[in-house]
Amino acid sequence: MTLKTPEEYLESIKKQKYNLYLFGEKIDNWYDHPIIAPTINPVMKTYELAQDPQYQEIMTSISHLTGERINRFTSVHRSNEDLIKKVKMQRLLGQHTGCCFQRCVGMDAINAVFSTSYEIDAKYGTKYHQNLLSWLKRIQSEDLTVDGAMTDPKGDRSKRPSEQTDPDLYLHIVEEKKNGIIVRGAKIHQTGFLNSHEVLVMPTMAMRETEKQYSVCFAIDTATKGITCIYGRQPCDTRKLEECLCDRGNPNYCGQEVFVIFEDVFIPKDRIFMKGEYDFTSPLVERFAGYHRQSYGGCKVGVGDVLIGATALIAEYNGVEKAPLIRDKLVEMVHLNETIYSCGIACSYEGHKTPAGNYEIDLLLANVCKQNVTRFPYEIARLSEDITGGILATLPSEKDLNNETVGPLLKKYLKTHEGINVEDRFKLIRFLENMTMGTAAVSYKSESMHGAGSPQAQRIMIARQANLEAKKALIKKILDIK
Ligand code: SF4
Ligand code: FE
Repeated sequence: MTLKTPEEYLESIKKQKYNLYLFGEKIDNWYDHPIIAPTINPVMKTYELAQDPQYQEIMTSISHLTGERINRFTSVHRSNEDLIKKVKMQRLLGQHTGCCFQRCVGMDAINAVFSTSYEIDAKYGTKYHQNLLSWLKRIQSEDLTVDGAMTDPKGDRSKRPSEQTDPDLYLHIVEEKKNGIIVRGAKIHQTGFLNSHEVLVMPTMAMRETEKQYSVCFAIDTATKGITCIYGRQPCDTRKLEECLCDRGNPNYCGQEVFVIFEDVFIPKDRIFMKGEYDFTSPLVERFAGYHRQSYGGCKVGVGDVLIGATALIAEYNGVEKAPLIRDKLVEMVHLNETIYSCGIACSYEGHKTPAGNYEIDLLLANVCKQNVTRFPYEIARLSEDITGGILATLPSEKDLNNETVGPLLKKYLKTHEGINVEDRFKLIRFLENMTMGTAAVSYKSESMHGAGSPQAQRIMIARQANLEAKKALIKKILDIK
């Protein structure tokens, strides 16, 4: 079996038994918890759309390892076309869910580790790439979801990993055994960790010679002994505990962030893809970040499409859709959204082949893409709030709307023009609130800011890739300056 149905995925992920905490309590049947359950649906969508013949080209590809049709989320990009289809797939999923569908991090990690493990082997004669390929074949043939884990807590930011008073603030090897290693530390902001079968762990930054024990990359089952998960809160998350569906904003789809702690976790030898080769931590981090910055050029645009659609619809409900200033603001939203998409497509189109045979994005353009993502969704959300009106921040509860006494009053005063159902207007305002300042704002705004690296990380990469000397040479040539 190479393509799981959404139901098969659900069944398989429910088998993961986590040591999970939420609101200070240990959670057993995590998939049934009302705060967690809606985060599984967007991942199921990545399986559902892959079954749909009209999306086959975008959602699936042929594995170069097994020759079988696989979900694109488990694939290695083999051409510029693959890189472009990846962005299109992410936009499509954003359009179908209006939230973070979580499965991209693993895909980006697989592709970054693919070329890096190949290069480590070429330099040191190690067997990491073979380890990766054996693991990846299983991921592809069983259509598993992988989480990519990079971010460490980092402790005192002015100190290197080995200078921290507590060495565990960066994940590291604490013991070497004949058949594997023991690791300790934490990975934070883990998007979709619980909804993933496996986690691919990478170093958080470029390491130095004295930091070999921090230069480690491996993959293991997310429910491995020694891993503790603490569920990340989101604004308005407790509304999911209430029975009103409308008040949740986007009741069926939601992202997920988890704080993951590794307490002496055993990693078998054949699951290790880097162990001490500190000189390859920098390319690995840069590649992963580059791929994930490209990803935002698809997913955030798809979610932006939904937000723009919701804003255009509320303008219509409010009877202002023909006003020139409203139309102009909607045009501005589209312009910003498509600018992000253009960068996502451009860095894919300008990608290149690596020695390992997979394709890597153009790093400069991928970083420009993500830098725009740290700004434009905020402006798009601002324009959406502007068009929606103050009701976005003052709407009473769905319970009031359905109350015998005040319900009819609310319905009377929330009415706009004939043909517009007050309940639909109510639902839409809640969705817009959720997207601009509720749970969904976590993935549309905060994740746009900090996910795949905070803005300064892109500026460092842009500075590195800018090649100002070549630009100076251009003007010198034009003006004949020696
Ligand atoms: Fe995918 Fe976007 Fe979520 Fe990252 S933020 S996992 S790219 S949907
Ligand atoms: Fe993310």
